[in-house]
Amino acid sequence: MAIKVGSDGSTISDAEKQALKAALRGDVHFRAGVSTEDYDQLLRRWNEAFTEQANIVALVESEQDVSECIKFAKEHDIDIAVAGGRHSYHGSSSTTGMVIGEIKQPQNSTRCADDCQDLRKLNKVTIDKASKTVTGGGGCVAGDLEKPAEAEGLSVVFGAINETGIGGLTTGGGAGWLTGRHGLTIDNLLAARVVLANGELVIASEQENEDLFWGIRGGGSNFGICTEFTFRAHDQGLCFFQMLTFAPDKLKDCISLIDKIHTNMTEPANGRFQPMFVMMAPPGKPHCPGFMVFYDGPEEEARKIAEPMYSLGPVNTMGGVWPYTQVTGIYGMMKMQGFDRWGSSSVHLDYPVNQAIVLGCVARFQEAVQRQGADFAHSTFILDLRDYRKVASVSSSATAYAGRYTAAILIADFRWDKPELDKTAREEAKSITNYAKEQVKEQRIFAKTQEDGQRDLSSFYPNVSAGTEKIESVFGSNLPRLKELKQKYDRDFLFNKWYPIDPN
Ligand SMILES: Cc1cc2nc3c(=O)[nH]c(=O)nc-3n(C[C@H](O)[C@H](O)[C@H](O)COP(=O)(O)OP(=O)(O)OC[C@H]3O[C@@H](n4cnc5c(N)ncnc54)[C@H](O)[C@@H]3O)c2cc1C
Repeated sequence: MAIKVGSDGSTISDAEKQALKAALRGDVHFRAGVSTEDYDQLLRRWNEAFTEQANIVALVESEQDVSECIKFAKEHDIDIAVAGGRHSYHGSSSTTGMVIGEIKQPQNSTRCADDCQDLRKLNKVTIDKASKTVTGGGGCVAGDLEKPAEAEGLSVVFGAINETGIGGLTTGGGAGWLTGRHGLTIDNLLAARVVLANGELVIASEQENEDLFWGIRGGGSNFGICTEFTFRAHDQGLCFFQMLTFAPDKLKDCISLIDKIHTNMTEPANGRFQPMFVMMAPPGKPHCPGFMVFYDGPEEEARKIAEPMYSLGPVNTMGGVWPYTQVTGIYGMMKMQGFDRWGSSSVHLDYPVNQAIVLGCVARFQEAVQRQGADFAHSTFILDLRDYRKVASVSSSATAYAGRYTAAILIADFRWDKPELDKTAREEAKSITNYAKEQVKEQRIFAKTQEDGQRDLSSFYPNVSAGTEKIESVFGSNLPRLKELKQKYDRDFLFNKWYPIDPN
């Protein structure tokens, strides 16, 4: 039976479906070709918000498969989405057309069922201890690389949670606990293999297709499907990680520490100290202020540098001296079931951080949570106070990633279960960062970047934001060059998700 694939009602016939099946080493599934239950399982996303009802799911196993899918989609005018770790906060790995899924979920994933695990095959990992490089397939999640690297005494810079796909995280920039010392994920990317919109496979590195290499480092999934990434790795020892929770009445005291943390505490630590302020709710309790203390070094140094936080008298502490992957595996450890829909919005706040703005945002977050009661109870308010000096030391035109600020990042991270709350959750997240943006504008607070001196601080971290923001504020002065690249590599606008850059 022919299936409808295009929004214009276009169809593909049984013969065309068979031709695609025959061309691929991996499996391809068509809606109505398998049971509804199995098909739904194929569509599942780690972040279940924004799951669209794709008509085709291709579980590619090789670069040739990726190329065949692209050519097929182009020939039949089918919208495509590339699915990596399926974490996207704004559905950029979902479509009603064809999902090219090259991911595998980690073995201990709290998300997809077992039969979801071994279908996605582009996940080979190679560790080269001698050259301190780590290579992983475009379908890997961070933990796939982090764990074998750690066994060799090495680490790679990925995000705070090791279930995130390296595909989306890397092409969007990538910030994590090790960023203070080693920069963004893209600052450690040495090369990638990329299947382009014409189906051709190319290498992107400083030596080959340098312009593409520039574009995929922060330009997201605008230029092609990365089938493999090679990263610089670093010697890694044990870390100190602790979550400190305070009584609700300590909120102002916590916020008053922010500038001290930044000025006095980041200097001697040289990027090792990566703290975050959080508002989190212990099960069944109201949201409490807290700090996440990460230190890439010995406990005594960590405790010394974090002393002002400890001296506020946390009511609870959790964590200790841990291997790095235990820190990034914390989400899996907490094994929270349900609440699989995530929506986020973020904004940069320059130092010295305006405490009234932060408190205003916290108040709005608390009001939003109270309005929905238990439904938003697992949402989190984050003020990322990590040391971004290393990130900002790279010119904002050196890669497509423009937001190289030392500023703090305020993140409203909503988490919920009920599909009917999708719209509300996103609106609540946006309204909190919009409030911060308005205040910043009103008070004419600006961020400094190495390159253009002063810059309007309406920007945000695109990996953890709503997806609806203007591309001008994502890419800043890099946008004209990105448009030229889009003309060169994807003139037909095949890759039109994740802050899509219209080539025309
Ligand atoms: C709980 C949680 C924690 C997070 N923590 C962090 C963090 O600490 N640091 C941080 O930087 N970000 C963080 N993020 C954001 C995350 O990096 C982005 O959502 C990222 O896009 C996810 O990548 P993915 O491959 O898992 O997602 P997907 O939804 O599969 O993909 C996201 C985008 O990347 C594209 N993409 C995926 N794989 C490839 C590939 N191989 N080639 C080309 N394009 C590809 C997709 O097409 C899509 O546009 C977090 C997100 C969540 C939900």
